[in-house]
Amino acid sequence: MERTYVMVKPDGVARGLMGEVLGRIEKKGLKIVGMKFAVMEEAKAKEHYAEHAERPFFAGLVEFITSAPSLSLVVEGNDSIKIMRAINGATKPAEAAPGTIRGDFAVDTGRNLVHASDSTEAAEREIKIHFGDAALLTYKRCDDDCLY
Ligand code: ADP
Ligand code: MG
Repeated sequence: MERTYVMVKPDGVARGLMGEVLGRIEKKGLKIVGMKFAVMEEAKAKEHYAEHAERPFFAGLVEFITSAPSLSLVVEGNDSIKIMRAINGATKPAEAAPGTIRGDFAVDTGRNLVHASDSTEAAEREIKIHFGDAALLTYKRCDDDCLY
């Protein structure tokens, strides 16, 4: 089953949108198999965003991501990488469709609330950076058959 790395960035946490993001992921039918609520270490933020190291926004991005708590998730499910990118919406909120997280709740590219891996290689790399060898969880999702 495909896995992807998702983050509710510090702006999402500060704006009280963790539940909104988690709710969208759960209701879609994807499974959350890892969760970590913490202030990201600078070294991890730099590694995470290494592809952007030469961009003018890099220093500010790392500073922001490490400035306050963020919520790291590992999300599992069929096509979870593509699906999470679609749930988040386009990088620039002005281009993000209504119905996506960024389209519904964000107005600024530097405060676009969420992250999701953009490829299988990125997902593998990012899960390793943020969860290392920590065991991810296994459980059965169910509806009617677990109410009673
Ligand atoms: P995505 O998060 O959609 O994968 P990118 O990988 O292109 O987007 O960029 C990583 C993050 O860097 C973005 O989500 C955004 O927070 C920030 N960022 C990208 N471009 C800019 C920019 N021009 N100005 C400020 N921040 C930016
Ligand atoms: Mg990206």
